[in-house]
Amino acid sequence: NGDYRVAFFGAGGVGKSSIVLRFVKGTFSDSYVPTIEDTYQQVISSNQKNVCTLEITDTTGSHQFPAMQRLSVSKGHAFVLVYSVTSRQSLEELGPILLMLKEVKGNEIADVPIVLVGNKKDEASRREVPYETGVKLADRWNTGFVETSAKSNENIAELFQTLLSLEKKRQLAL
Ligand code: GDP
Ligand code: MG
Repeated sequence: NGDYRVAFFGAGGVGKSSIVLRFVKGTFSDSYVPTIEDTYQQVISSNQKNVCTLEITDTTGSHQFPAMQRLSVSKGHAFVLVYSVTSRQSLEELGPILLMLKEVKGNEIADVPIVLVGNKKDEASRREVPYETGVKLADRWNTGFVETSAKSNENIAELFQTLLSLEKKRQLAL
């Protein structure tokens, strides 16, 4: 079918749910509600079927049950790896997730769209991860890169555009 499945990964509290809710519903909340696992759908355009459903899975983060994590990966077409620019630790937690992606996807990994996202760019005074660090890591990992703020709605649509533009097998757009 025409579904295009995207899964979000990253440490708890980096803003995965906030990014997804900002994109899907246009809302933002300052309160933190830990996620179990939620899926959202959004209609996008595709050269193959005119319409396509973008299915977004918001995972609980890096401490999700490994079996559940691997299932989201095997079903997913594209991935968003989120850290917070206010936490160097949250960036370090993405390394094992990328390794797991490579392991589950095997040889296909080179064709799998992945975007590295540094969220909370509005928190300038609490920044621990420089923009350049994100750029360099994305270059090394061969992924897209964008810094976002779910709070001030910066680069949220751009994040999804970047991800869709990395898909080689079909032409997808918002
Ligand atoms: P998740 O665990 O990765 O899903 O993180 P959440 O989306 O639940 O967000 C965790 C906390 O960070 C919440 O209190 C959010 O309001 C806050 N938050 C999320 N995105 C941003 C952002 O872009 N800027 C700021 N300042 N706070 C954010
Ligand atoms: Mg969440």
